[in-house]
Amino acid sequence: MNFRRKYEDELNNLKENENNIDFFRNLLSARHNNYFMKEIIEGLLKFSKEHNLNSVNAWAYYYLGWYNFDKSNYNKSTECFLTSYDLFEMIKNEDGLVYACNGLTNVYCQIGQFKLANEWGLKGISLCEEMDNKDALVILLINTGINYIEMKYFEKGREIFHSLEIMDYELSSTHQISCNLAMAEIEINIGESSKALSYIEKSLKIESDIKLITDMCEIYKLTAMAYVKLNLYDMAEKAFKKSYDFAVDNNFVYEKYISMVEWSKLNVLVGRNQKAIYLLNEVIEMCRSKELNVLLRESYHILYGIYKESGMLDKALECLENYILVDDKMYDYEQNQLMAKMNFKHTKREADQYKSLYGKTELLSTIGQKIISNLNIKSIVDIINEEINKLLEADYFGIVVYDNEKDKATYYFAGEGFEIKEVVSYKEYAYNFFGYYCVKNKKDIIIGNLDKEYKQYIDSTPIDIGKTYENGKSYMNSLIYTPMIINDKVVGVMTVQSKEHNAYDRNDLHTLKILANYSAIAIENAISYKKIEDLATYDNLTSFLSKFEIIRLGEIIFDKYKDSNLRFSVTMIDIDNFKSVNDTYGHVVGDSVLAMVARVISSCIRNTDYIGRYGGDEFLLICPGLGEPEAVDVAERIRYAVENKVFELGKGIVVSVTISLGVHEYKEKDLSFIDVLNLADKNLYCAKGNNRNLVVCC
Ligand code: GH3
Ligand code: MG
Repeated sequence: MNFRRKYEDELNNLKENENNIDFFRNLLSARHNNYFMKEIIEGLLKFSKEHNLNSVNAWAYYYLGWYNFDKSNYNKSTECFLTSYDLFEMIKNEDGLVYACNGLTNVYCQIGQFKLANEWGLKGISLCEEMDNKDALVILLINTGINYIEMKYFEKGREIFHSLEIMDYELSSTHQISCNLAMAEIEINIGESSKALSYIEKSLKIESDIKLITDMCEIYKLTAMAYVKLNLYDMAEKAFKKSYDFAVDNNFVYEKYISMVEWSKLNVLVGRNQKAIYLLNEVIEMCRSKELNVLLRESYHILYGIYKESGMLDKALECLENYILVDDKMYDYEQNQLMAKMNFKHTKREADQYKSLYGKTELLSTIGQKIISNLNIKSIVDIINEEINKLLEADYFGIVVYDNEKDKATYYFAGEGFEIKEVVSYKEYAYNFFGYYCVKNKKDIIIGNLDKEYKQYIDSTPIDIGKTYENGKSYMNSLIYTPMIINDKVVGVMTVQSKEHNAYDRNDLHTLKILANYSAIAIENAISYKKIEDLATYDNLTSFLSKFEIIRLGEIIFDKYKDSNLRFSVTMIDIDNFKSVNDTYGHVVGDSVLAMVARVISSCIRNTDYIGRYGGDEFLLICPGLGEPEAVDVAERIRYAVENKVFELGKGIVVSVTISLGVHEYKEKDLSFIDVLNLADKNLYCAKGNNRNLVVCC
């Protein structure tokens, strides 16, 4: 029978009974190997609408979801899967629901909405367990496991793939490939790369047995990543090239970009920054237009690292800002999806419950938006503190930000008399605190009666953040502590506390967890931003302003003072014969002397003056409000203080230095700040030519 006839017959069979859909499901499941996918789906959509076949209609949307997924139309794909889910729900088709959950898990994972992916995956898994549908359960477990890997929750991923190994179920070849590749990725990240290579080997064998090519890019890419971990960089380079070429030859768009991102990391590692920048810029350009935000975000992050390391701080800052923008966008997407879901599910029975949930989600979204783009930790804490009582009852709210590397914690006590306290050696200091329990175990604490329940978590009466205890007596009775986690790493703890007994339930914990997630991202962004901003603004050695920053300020002052009667002066300072200090004692001592001279200069100026490190041993001082005679007095004071200071550098090394200074007061004929600067520099040159250790102003 020819295909056309068979197709028509099968369509008519659907009219008899909608469950006769296996023929079409088998056809459409082939995905990559089916060139008529779109035509078949459109035929089914039309036919089902003409004949009012709801189940067929739902399946058609489901496969349209996959069709769009394979074409990288992720927004459309999501819409189709969501439509199919709602249609399946309407006709109570549980089988369909499970598959729709799986589609959504995949598409959300692909666009980096890992939390949503996880939510749909877990929903699908529990449906499968209720129905005892092992086929679908396996698929959902695999995809949920892969999602955990994408979230970098490798331990959780490993648990899932182990559970699949011991399950009494014969996996299909393609599923075996997926599992082996997932295990390989887990091994590369938290295990042994040699094991990863043997998992990859297994997938390769199955792939060639069944003559598939779909996973070849991934196979080459993971091989390369394993080689990188084993420090076999040449072999890794070859494998990355293979992965890239394979993707290009077969037009696998997503695979191509993901290979390029990983490849760029190798290039950074071996010092080929230019090649990495080239690869990343191409990825950024393409991912921007295709909204592949996960790759876009990662690319900006790697570029940020490269520029930061090479001291190109303005570019680093730009990349960090772009990174934050993409992050915001991904966050907005999640909120919109949550809203859409809540609007959609307005069944009568659920209406009341959702109303309150909807309100909460809306509020969470507003708070989230406010904090996520905020780059100041204090104001992040303030915002949450102002709004938290609309979400749950709280007499106290607080955050601890934890830095594992330095074992340092910063406490943010919110509310009146806002206070920040830093604690070093946190592990030792806080071993018996609720907060540390959360950090150490990555677990939540929810308590309804403090006196009775605290012993489940800690040994003796806690004196944790917030005024939990006063005069040895607790006046908080309920509390929640939840860890703030990014990429499997605890970055802090969030707590709410109440004087009431049993003030909190699981819903409150859930709300706080969402808030903790947003805050974690916001705080991490704020910390990175502050670090890089400081690097760009201050000189590391002397803590003076950087050259860039002092000139920027100089230009602002110039503009402000040029049309006024106010005066300002500029002084260039340079250490005399500093090279000989380096030559005699070495650069390390030289550095210390530089820092010490800087401290002496600081002690001689007002806090309304600006001082920057202009070059190696050269400093630039700007004194707003001072005319020539006063500026010369200041310069003389500095010169005298340095000349009379003896720098003791340990090991019996004692160094004295002198400095030369050139002063110039702004005059009307100076057309720019640079003119003012050059005239001060000219005077400095004059001082150097007159035996040094001198102030010149002419
Ligand atoms: P002059 O009196 O003419 O200024 O002589 P000088 O030896 O100080 O010469 P100049 O200012 O031209 O050169 C500055 C020297 O300062 C060059 C270099 O050896 C040293 N230097 C510059 N930056 C640093 C730094 O960050 N650390 C150390 N240890 N030395 C520096
Ligand atoms: Mg010098």
